[in-house]
Amino acid sequence: MPRVKPNNTEEESKLTRIAIVSNDKCKPKRCRQECKKSCPVVRMGKLCIEVVSTDKIALISEELCIGCGICSKKCPFEAINIINLPSNLGKDTTHRYNANSFKLHRFVALFFLTLTHFLVQNLSGGELQRLALTLCLGKPADVYLIDEPSAYLDSEQRLVAAKVIKRFILHAKKTGFVVEHDFIMATYLADRVIVFDGIPSLKTTANTPQSLLNGMNQFLESLEITFRRDPTNYRPRINKLNSVKDAEQKKGGNYFFLED
Ligand code: SF4
Ligand code: SF4
Repeated sequence: MPRVKPNNTEEESKLTRIAIVSNDKCKPKRCRQECKKSCPVVRMGKLCIEVVSTDKIALISEELCIGCGICSKKCPFEAINIINLPSNLGKDTTHRYNANSFKLHRFVALFFLTLTHFLVQNLSGGELQRLALTLCLGKPADVYLIDEPSAYLDSEQRLVAAKVIKRFILHAKKTGFVVEHDFIMATYLADRVIVFDGIPSLKTTANTPQSLLNGMNQFLESLEITFRRDPTNYRPRINKLNSVKDAEQKKGGNYFFLED
């Protein structure tokens, strides 16, 4: 990708030229793939631009592109823009962790916002949710706060997401705080439960973390609900209030069940 212009100082003015293909404008079915035909790198036999008439969009290799801009001029739909990306612009540094290490530039932040905007517009809720989870778990941390990981996911994706979270937390020996409304997912993920007492948003007390069984029993008791497991599909079911099973379980203090 990058073509690097000469430095003025050690800190300043390295520019990386990147070809960006517009999702909306690129129409390989309606053009003659002029971008690919005109690219000098493709002509040298390298797959700098990959596109055939049945593709939805042309793909440009960031590693191979030299930023010459020829494709941009040849595309009949003006689908390619060449942008200059500062790769090391001292005066625009907004955060630096320590000398000669990672720096965050305003431009990169802007680029990230643009990318985020693009992703939000083009990905479904479920795809975004999985992307957010991947980004979260990909960041090194001691404690991971995960709010409703099952939102926007269908039942099969929820199972996969729950397995990924649990395996990651266990293998990495980290702690995860998960807020979850899906009962199956919440009880699958949790090995400790924090039960909140009181009046929501007004006066609430968080109890100390306790085992899954004790915590769920306390929580369900506060709601006067008992659960059983469906013998056919093993899914948790709420017992009908005051049914024989409900009364039996309440008498024994068994509001919740554990997996066998
Ligand atoms: S970038 Fe332009 S020339 Fe290349 S495939 Fe898309 S529309 Fe065609
Ligand atoms: S900018 Fe030049 S090298 Fe890069 S894809 Fe376009 S024609 Fe090829």
